[in-house]
Amino acid sequence: MGSDSLSQTKPIPLSTEEEDPPTQSTALLSFDTDSSLESEANGSPSKCSTTTIFIVLILVSFVALFSAFVFAFLFYSSSHSSSSATPRNFSRPLKQLENPVVLLVSSDGFRFGYQFKTPTPNIHRLVENGVEAEMGLIPVFPSLTFPNHYSIVTGLYPAYHGIINNHFIDPNTGEFFHSASHEPKWWLGEPLWETVVNHGLKAVTNFWPGSEVKKGSWNCPEKLCMKYNNSVPFEHRVDTALSYFDLPSREIPAFMTLYFEDPDHQGHKVGPDDPQITESVARIDRMIGRLIDGLERRGIFEDVTIIMVGDHGMVVRCLLFVHLQVMHHRMLFAKMNEGLESGKVDNGKYLKVYLKEDLPSRLHYAASDRIPPIIGLIEESFKVEQKRSKRKECGGSHGYDNAIFSMRSIFIGHGPQFARGEEGAIF
Ligand SMILES: [Zn+2]
Repeated sequence: MGSDSLSQTKPIPLSTEEEDPPTQSTALLSFDTDSSLESEANGSPSKCSTTTIFIVLILVSFVALFSAFVFAFLFYSSSHSSSSATPRNFSRPLKQLENPVVLLVSSDGFRFGYQFKTPTPNIHRLVENGVEAEMGLIPVFPSLTFPNHYSIVTGLYPAYHGIINNHFIDPNTGEFFHSASHEPKWWLGEPLWETVVNHGLKAVTNFWPGSEVKKGSWNCPEKLCMKYNNSVPFEHRVDTALSYFDLPSREIPAFMTLYFEDPDHQGHKVGPDDPQITESVARIDRMIGRLIDGLERRGIFEDVTIIMVGDHGMVVRCLLFVHLQVMHHRMLFAKMNEGLESGKVDNGKYLKVYLKEDLPSRLHYAASDRIPPIIGLIEESFKVEQKRSKRKECGGSHGYDNAIFSMRSIFIGHGPQFARGEEGAIF
């Protein structure tokens, strides 16, 4: 993240800029992690009501963004039986667990297609015995980490959940939102962990943007709401998630999150085609394998609903800049595109600016005061540079129009609420 957030204080707020990986200096959040266990005194409703609530939860979580997909797997009988009007019910009864558990796993910047770069036997095991978006998950616009992670757990587009960029300025107050802004005023909508608690169940967040925000019935309970710390080894994160299954049955959280910064971290540094990405993807697969192994050892792998997602893709960006030093915020909007197309702005034709109400409606990026009035859409692989630099590095970028294929990520579902071996095109 850095100098390119959507902001009215900037000459042209561009929503197509990349973010930095959450490194030590740009952590999503910045506190120590305590991953020890402590049971909470939440009541544990009956299995019957819990099951019902979780079916509803899964539907609610994806209905706004992914409704077509969810209905495809929960109610739609697929192309094999398209003539039938009777929906198929894929859900299976639990064998070991007393109550359903949903484990939501995010691999940041896992571009669609990474899973074919190298053998990923564990990810493919989830796919083969579960469901996947065959052509990838389309992120919300802008294809950035915070807007997308919060959309995944609220089912809302950024204009409605309020996190319209990784960092931005609220034009009404002048306040700056950044990755460690935990004040509830920023975070609109109802994230899944809050929904879970509202239903009398227990949730645990093992890192997720927004999870440390005390809002509504979610007070970020100690031991169940991890403070973000990117130095926690991935293995430890997986083991922490697994350890919750060792609690007494009625105390096992009904909803858990698990977050990995990779391969976004490497993607920014070296771009999506570097061997480092291959190794990073292999490592993520090993973490999924560690998770599966741990669940199998406990005899509950088939009982846990695992949803694995990425938040956005990645594209190589290498020395393709649009230089905008001739433009400033007092330039009339009508003159902006004229200037860009004039040939006087380096690579200006690759940037188009819009009044936000004129953006393509498919972007759903207008209905918030936080969204600046003028938005730039830049073509894939380009970056706006306001001061010419002699930087020569190449790397990766995202944040672009979510219709661009390289911005797609993954969706995989496995467990008792998903069919086995089904695929949907995209969603
Ligand atoms: Zn990300």
